[in-house]
Amino acid sequence: MSTILTYIAVQNGSPSRSSLEVLSRARQIADSQGAECAAMVLVPDAAAIPKKLGRFGAHKVFVVSNPVFSQHINTPFLAGLEAVIKQVQPSMVVFPSSEGVKDVLGALAIRTGAAVVPDVASFEMKDGGVEALRPVMAAKFMAKTRAESGLVLVSVRAGSYEAIESPTEASVEDVAFSFDEGSLSQTLREVVRATTGAVDLADAQVVIAAGRGVKDEVGKQLVEELADALGAAIGSSRAVVENGMFPATAQIGQTGKVVSPDLYIGVGISGAIQHVAGMSNSRTIVAINTNPDAPIFDVATYGVVGDLYKVLPILIEEIRKAKAVAA
Ligand SMILES: Cc1cc2nc3c(=O)[nH]c(=O)nc-3n(C[C@H](O)[C@H](O)[C@H](O)COP(=O)(O)OP(=O)(O)OC[C@H]3O[C@@H](n4cnc5c(N)ncnc54)[C@H](O)[C@@H]3O)c2cc1C
Repeated sequence: MSTILTYIAVQNGSPSRSSLEVLSRARQIADSQGAECAAMVLVPDAAAIPKKLGRFGAHKVFVVSNPVFSQHINTPFLAGLEAVIKQVQPSMVVFPSSEGVKDVLGALAIRTGAAVVPDVASFEMKDGGVEALRPVMAAKFMAKTRAESGLVLVSVRAGSYEAIESPTEASVEDVAFSFDEGSLSQTLREVVRATTGAVDLADAQVVIAAGRGVKDEVGKQLVEELADALGAAIGSSRAVVENGMFPATAQIGQTGKVVSPDLYIGVGISGAIQHVAGMSNSRTIVAINTNPDAPIFDVATYGVVGDLYKVLPILIEEIRKAKAVAA
């Protein structure tokens, strides 16, 4: 029986949302192909294996445990993935399309002799190959790609699929792995977190994105207060990264991050095609803009034509009131 293997990124002891979305899709394909649906995790110690994976359909969880995985470093990450692939011999490995995965996918394809289909919005197994749709040219077009190989690596954009529970009895199998940290030519000294909000942007369920309409510290503080009230991550357009108001890590778009939250609120953002390429997968889009003709309203589910400096204080107050009633 062939195996479809999913890489599960673990963050603070839990599988990332995008990993569970990908695992759910892998399970659907495995079911339709009569294949086994397996997951792999690379964790600092075996006690850190997330318990949830069986709930999302993995029959088997392959675990590589080594202290080197307490931080993301490309060399051991690549070696760990390769060790699992060599042991399991899957026909397809599916990844969430995270920054860490993007860093190593090409090298992994070379090492394992695989075909690679990166950053897709949808994929299926058809006529013995993998067919995928991949957004190109700032997501204006979809490129249809087909790969035929004994092993195909696929990375999937966050938000492309729903994470759907389908409980199974998952067995756990350790994969032998050793790594000489002394062999590393780079050392990761410190991970400096951006100061934009407490929630990680790529996996956030609610994102508040600030644009050039946010002109000063008062506007920035309003954005932070709204994010705090909603438990949201803060993102931005490139314009306010370039003017130094927000860090580069907050940028959403063609040359920034791709986000797919349940709720995206664009505040003072015009909706340039390069920005929309990074947020159009969001389930509900709210735009607040003084210009009724701003292109962001073309993709918005709800639009507020108004000055963010007047709209946000009212919105924040109403959200706080609603939360107080619900508490
Ligand atoms: C190759 C390339 C790659 C790019 N990659 C990216 C990318 O990844 N991400 C990205 O974001 N951009 C990217 N850009 C830049 C992009 O083209 C736009 O310039 C940028 O997104 C504009 O940012 P903005 O919407 O914040 O600013 P603007 O276009 O200046 O829009 C500001 C909006 O705020 C509104 N506004 C003003 N005052 C208020 C107020 N008080 N209340 C409410 N609304 C107000 C205005 O009506 C306006 O619509 C890229 C460009 C190129 C050429």
